[in-house]
This record gives sequence, structure tokens and C-alpha cells, in this order.
Amino acid sequence: QNATPDLVIVGAGIFGLTIAQQAVEKLGVNVTIIDIRDHIGGNAYSYMDPETGAEIHKYGAHLFHTSNSRVWEYVNRFTKFTDYVHRVYATHDGEVFPLPINLGTINQFFRANYTPAQAKALIDEQAGELAGTDPANLNDQGISLIGRPLYEAFIKNYTAKQWQTDPSELPASIIKRLPVRFNYNNRYFKDTWEGLPADGYTAWLERMIDDPRITVKLETDFFDETQPLNKRALLEAGVPVVYTGPVDRYFDYDLGELKWRTVDFKEVRYDEGDHFGCAVMNFSDADVPYTRAIEFKNFNPERAAEQNPNKTVVWEEYSRFANRDDEPYYPINTDEDKALYAQYKAKAADEPNVVFGGRLGTYAYYDMDQVFNQALISYEKQVEPLLKK
Ligand code: FAD
Ligand code: UDP
Repeated sequence: QNATPDLVIVGAGIFGLTIAQQAVEKLGVNVTIIDIRDHIGGNAYSYMDPETGAEIHKYGAHLFHTSNSRVWEYVNRFTKFTDYVHRVYATHDGEVFPLPINLGTINQFFRANYTPAQAKALIDEQAGELAGTDPANLNDQGISLIGRPLYEAFIKNYTAKQWQTDPSELPASIIKRLPVRFNYNNRYFKDTWEGLPADGYTAWLERMIDDPRITVKLETDFFDETQPLNKRALLEAGVPVVYTGPVDRYFDYDLGELKWRTVDFKEVRYDEGDHFGCAVMNFSDADVPYTRAIEFKNFNPERAAEQNPNKTVVWEEYSRFANRDDEPYYPINTDEDKALYAQYKAKAADEPNVVFGGRLGTYAYYDMDQVFNQALISYEKQVEPLLKK
């Protein structure tokens, strides 16, 4: 297959795979996907751990959840989902509490038996110190949501470890995604549908591109001019490109660098079947240096028969500022970053034959379902018109 493809996609993550699947299904074109990594799936990639039988999410725990019916129907074409429901617990001051903050957390914390109305009245009173203000930063938003005592126990130190930035300088939007509930519901997500791919993330994502018209070239860097599908060669030949790598890297960082945070994972193995008794344990206090620990076996209780009953594997997450060579995970998104991204976005819009997409291409923190949705829309609005030109 040496013929020039009709479309080249840079990045085999969810955005790139969805564009490839749509282009082949709708127009029957030949597509080549390149990725600098040695596997497909982008950050949603996972692999099986032979010792424990756990499915390890290589770039951090990934839970699929959505309220978008178009996305839910689309993903169900390629995988079944388990009935896993995400729940998170937090260790604070030698005790384990349920998250997100709910009536169980509140009553355990205050050693009380408040009804929903009593708990709400208490929190309203504690949050009263900021009454009438419109909390724009994370500190004030946190206090006005749950009051100072719960904020200081469960949010303040965790956020400091996660962001290493004073919470009064962080945008409130970071914690707006966490619900606060005055009942005992401790489901982490509010979405209509959730679950994990029944036979793993990688099998799911491979099925999306199981077609002879789609070629995947791994360990291939778009900016490496010694390989034929590089930026300069493709632009000169006028081949349509979908680019899902970092937008500042595309322009050689000529306006400056967009800032990201990354996570280092420390793997710990235990000679016991279950270490935490749950999939995710957050550590709310400053004395534990990591933010949370993921026990992957517990994402897939339905696979118990195939898992090792005497061993388990846990990943501890340490968050820090990302350098150019690190994996970019969380966009920092200060006002300065936002202004810089607006400039790159304008340049990207002027780039003929190239569509920018995905979390790196648009400098955004998106959940997987948002990326599927944006890829389906981008295919219709941007990519298909380019292919028909
Ligand atoms: P990516 O998956 O990043 O794919 C981009 C691809 O481009 C990569 O494979 C990269 O190698 C490739 N690439 C980059 N530069 C080049 C180059 N020069 N040449 C060739 N290839 C290149 N979402 C959820 O819905 N639920 C979760 O629980 C969840 N947890 C997350 C936890 C963490 C720690 C992180 C970081 C993200 C999480 N997400 C979660 C978000 C989810 O990972 C993303 O929404 C989704 O995977 C993004 O897909 P993408 O295609 O935009 O980008
Ligand atoms: N957060 C917190 N304590 C917790 C969990 C979350 O303070 O126990 C805050 C923290 O600032 C974090 C944000 O809420 O960055 C979003 O949490 P989420 O669990 O959605 O984080 P993600 O999975 O995106 O890392």
C-alpha cells in the first residue's frame, strides 16, 4: 500500500479513530492513521496485567459515562458495557468516608444523624460567610458549596496536591463537576449511562477501525521528516489531514507554550486479593503525597473468576507541572493560557486542508464522550467537506 491515502489522521486516540471510522463508512475513502506511540487508543488505551488479571488503564483510570444519546448509540456499535457504577471513597484523618460529599459523608464527619433538611440547613449556615457573592475561584466556590469544615477536610489539601496552585487562583469550574448531595446516593457521576467496555478499552477501540481501508502506522511522528507522512510532505501534496496532537507543537511553539499538568504513576503490588475494597481511594490529607490510588481489579468484579485471588496491583497518582517531554494531561487554563490558545486557534483556522481536534488539538479537558461527540460533529462539518473538495 504505497498509494497516497485520501486522508491522514495524526493520533490514534478517540478523536482520530472516530474520524477514520466515519470517513470510511460514509465515503469509502482510504485512511491512514499515524501515532507516535506503539499502540492505538490514545489515553484510553489499556492492557491486561498477567500476574493479577487486572486491566490496567495505562494513562490513568478511565470511566465511560455520558448523557448524550447519539454518543451512547454510537459507542454501543463497537462494544458492550458492564454494569459497573463508579464510586469513590476518601481517607481523611484516619477514617474512610464516601464521596462525592453526600449525607453519609456529612453525618460521619459531624458524628450526627441529620435528615436531608437538617444537613442542608447546617451547610447553608456554614456557607453563609460567602452569601450573595458569585464565587469565581475554587476556594470560594468550594466554601459556598459545602462550608468551610468539609471544604478544608476533603477539598483543600487534595486540590493543593493535584494542582500545586493556591485554590483562590484556580477556576471554580474544576470542582463544579463534583456533585454535592443531601441523600445517601454516592454514585460519582450524574450521567444517564455509565459502564466499562466489557472486553476492555483496547478491544473496543480496535473494532472501530477494523476495515481494510484503514491503515495504522505506529511509532510514526508527524514531525519526523524521515518518514513519508510528515507535516511538510503532506501539506505540499495537499493531502487532507486531521491533527489531534498538541496545537502549540504543530506551530513549533512559535507563540509560546500552552501549560499542562501531568501525573506520575507509582505501581505497588500487594500479596492479597483486595487491598482497598474499592476501585478508587482518594487521600484527602497533606501527609500522603499522592492524590489517589487506583486498584484496577475492582473495576471489573465480573471477571473475578479470571483474576488472581491472592494478588492485586495498585497505582498511586502523583500530580506535577508538565515539561515538554511529559505526557500532557490536565490543561492549566490560566487567563494567560486561554489568551495564548485563542491565538493558536486563529492560526489553526487559517491552515488549509488541516482540521484540528481532540483534547490536545483544542487545549481542553474533555471526557471521552465529549471527544466522541466532537469528532462526529467535526466529521460532518469540517472533514467530509474537505474530502469532497
Ligand atoms: P488522545 O487520547 O490524547 O490522543 C491523541 C494521540 O495523538 C495520542 O495517541 C498521541 O500519541 C498522538 N500524537 C500526538 N502527537 C503526535 C505526533 N507528533 N505524531 C503522531 N501522533 C501524535 N475521560 C472520561 O470520559 N472518563 C475518565 O474517567 C477519564 N479519565 C481520565 C484520566 C486522565 C488522567 C486523563 C489524562 C484523561 C482522562 N479522561 C477521561 C479523558 C480522555 O482520556 C480523553 O477525553 C480522550 O482519551 C481524548 O482523546 P483524544 O483523541 O482527543 O486524545
Ligand atoms: N477534588 C477534591 N477532592 C476529592 C476529589 C476531587 O478536592 O476527593 C477536586 C480537585 O480539585 C479535582 C477536582 O475536584 O481536581 C475534580 O475531581 P475529579 O475526581 O473529577 O478529578 P479527575 O478525575 O478529573 O482527576
